[in-house]
Amino acid sequence: MLSNSIRLFRFAGIDVGIHYSWLAIFGLVTWSLAVGLYPRVLPGIPAVESWVLGIIGSLLLFVSVLIHELAHSLVAKARGLDARSITLFIFGGVSNLAGEAKRPSTEFIVAIVGPIASFVLAGLSALVAANVAEPRVVVTFEYLALVNFALAVFNLIPGFPLDGGRVFRSIVWSITGNLRRATELAANVGKLVAYGFLAWGFLRILDQDFLGGAWIAVIGWFLHGAASSSLTQVVLDTRLRRVRVGDVLRPDATMVPPGLPLTQLIDEVLLPGNRRAVPVGLDGRLIGMVTLSDLVKVPAQDRGTARVGDVMGGRTGVVTVGPMESLSYAVDLLGKHEFEQLPVMEGERLVGVLARADVMRQLQLREALDV
Ligand SMILES: [Zn+2]
Repeated sequence: MLSNSIRLFRFAGIDVGIHYSWLAIFGLVTWSLAVGLYPRVLPGIPAVESWVLGIIGSLLLFVSVLIHELAHSLVAKARGLDARSITLFIFGGVSNLAGEAKRPSTEFIVAIVGPIASFVLAGLSALVAANVAEPRVVVTFEYLALVNFALAVFNLIPGFPLDGGRVFRSIVWSITGNLRRATELAANVGKLVAYGFLAWGFLRILDQDFLGGAWIAVIGWFLHGAASSSLTQVVLDTRLRRVRVGDVLRPDATMVPPGLPLTQLIDEVLLPGNRRAVPVGLDGRLIGMVTLSDLVKVPAQDRGTARVGDVMGGRTGVVTVGPMESLSYAVDLLGKHEFEQLPVMEGERLVGVLARADVMRQLQLREALDV
């Protein structure tokens, strides 16, 4: 889940949440419906009724975006990808899918199903609007038909990382067989699209449409950032895939016993060794990991009595990595569990620790030397 977001509920094993920026959009949409759309189309509507309808319209918009994202996540799950969370934020939603699709066909179907869901919602809303006599329902569903249609079309713009960009990337990927080159191409198209939005926004502003122009420019700016960061991400990933954990780890197999008092751990192990974390072992077997963040939770005056076993992480099972695994796999693991380091195990034997900082240093080296 994105930071600065609130978790709302869990659906089919997927955490659904909203980013704080969504609240601003929710307010803005409600306001524009309540003082704009409803009074204009239904003259004489009481203000209270207009606001209630505005809130209902915003909620239905929320549900629409959610269905779009659920379509991505559920298809991803059915295709064996790990879909963990959906966060709705200012420009729609993001589905947090762990790992990239292994095949172009998977990427294609996971990407295309979102816009398809939005088109279907647009069609259903138009159908409701056409078959109901109640004017308030008609107005609301005409509005939903329009925004869902717009949502589908916007997402089909072929710039990565929009859905259309992913579809485009999957097609290039299946033709060239080269994921990295396909991503570069799709992300560069994404940047072009972003510049287009920026230019269009500024033209609108020059035409005195300040709010609309600023909004379009912000979308362009956001798209540009997203395209650039996905490009960096892929370059990093390709770099990391060629390096093994064993090449980067600290080959230090020191373990501390769970009975060690924290003061002793700090004075005799962490400070002299300049380390942020140490594996914990019992009878030569790894049973956990004690880290700086475990220690800072204990007030300084209690560190003489508290022991490593009381605060260490991993009591529910230690996550480890093998020395022959690729760095990109290890970085995925670090990210997934929000760890700063992983113990590296060769079979039953601890051979060292892989720290996020070491991975970063290796990356900087490779970047500087361009290898
Ligand atoms: Zn989408």
